[in-house]
Amino acid sequence: MRVPFFDLAPMHDELREDLDRLWARVSHPESFVGGETVERFESQWAEYNSRSCCVGTDSGTSAVELTLAALGVGAGDEVIVPGNTFTACAEAVTTVGAKPVFVDVDPSTLLMTSAGVGAAITPRTAAVIVVHLYGQPANVDAIGEVASVAGIAMIEDASHAHGATWQGRPAGSLSLAGCFSFHPGKNLGSFGDGGAVVTNDFDLARKIRLVRKRDRVRQLSGNSSIPGTNRRLDAFQAAILSVKLKRLDAWNAARTRAVNRYRMALAGCGVEFVATDPRACSSHHLAVVQTDHRDRLRQLLAVEGISAGVHYPVPCHRQPAFEAESTPRLPVTERAAQRILSLPMFPHLTDEQIDWVAGTIRRVLDGVPRVASANVAELRPLARMAEG
Ligand SMILES: *Cc1c(COP(=O)(O)O)cnc(C)c1O
Repeated sequence: MRVPFFDLAPMHDELREDLDRLWARVSHPESFVGGETVERFESQWAEYNSRSCCVGTDSGTSAVELTLAALGVGAGDEVIVPGNTFTACAEAVTTVGAKPVFVDVDPSTLLMTSAGVGAAITPRTAAVIVVHLYGQPANVDAIGEVASVAGIAMIEDASHAHGATWQGRPAGSLSLAGCFSFHPGKNLGSFGDGGAVVTNDFDLARKIRLVRKRDRVRQLSGNSSIPGTNRRLDAFQAAILSVKLKRLDAWNAARTRAVNRYRMALAGCGVEFVATDPRACSSHHLAVVQTDHRDRLRQLLAVEGISAGVHYPVPCHRQPAFEAESTPRLPVTERAAQRILSLPMFPHLTDEQIDWVAGTIRRVLDGVPRVASANVAELRPLARMAEG
């Protein structure tokens, strides 16, 4: 049985009629970037996250970058980010001219900790970016406390955590500003790139809008005083997002069901699920387990048609782009990078697919793989497809 790592087709089938109607609407020549359709989605996304403002952007990376720029973070500043995450946050930090400072994570949740943040603060620290990795909100209460004592801004990267909550409050609404990606593979995804920032701070939202799109009136009159950019969400993506938002909670519930079935089916077989804090309710963007036999397990799953992923195989601080003389070793992050495996996860995963994945993992770990003689080198390209 083939089990893809992620499958968009059934999500789109479920929405077929809405998507057809949408196409008829957005193909009328109203406004393709910005405009009413974008504003409608922005207000829906603000409301979903219990915030007063939402600013749509052309990607999640831009959402972080524009937020940092609007906060005045730039050359000479340091921004604390976890080593165990996608490189987007660190890239946004370097794009605004600041320096990312990487910190280690908690060994059970693999998330940033307040102790790690506290130890990394220097007189140059301007902000900390909390990443709700895999969909599980980090302890923003403790990290926020450390940040406020130090007088630095805390923002969130909630790109894995659409619809997740911490103590009942939405991920992305737990700090000054919450940044989201709507890449097609996220829990709420458009048909291309997209992103947004949500905040209760009207002045910050105004500044983000200013940097999002160069001031054309000033530019045309020769009064362009700040260098602008062009990072808007377009109307087509916004229209798709409004349609899909109606299904987000149901799709997140389906992910939760899938994770629970995986947990039951894999109990006691030697893979450990990454722990979720009892105060957090995960969006289950990824179903991540840890095992000492990760690479072998992944390769043998691929032979059986099961695509598992690794998020992420090389931690941010070990990427050549960010590795400097002074880069600290982050032992928990580095060990996890060798042991983490993301199981197939999407809302329409069937019980049969879950049982097949779990049964195959059990067989492999019991040391009786059906394909023990498989040529591992040949399997690599297949396994790699599930990355990213
Ligand atoms: C996807 C992602 C981003 C950035 O998203 P893009 O829309 O691809 O720019 C940022 N952080 C995390 C953790 C992500 O997974």
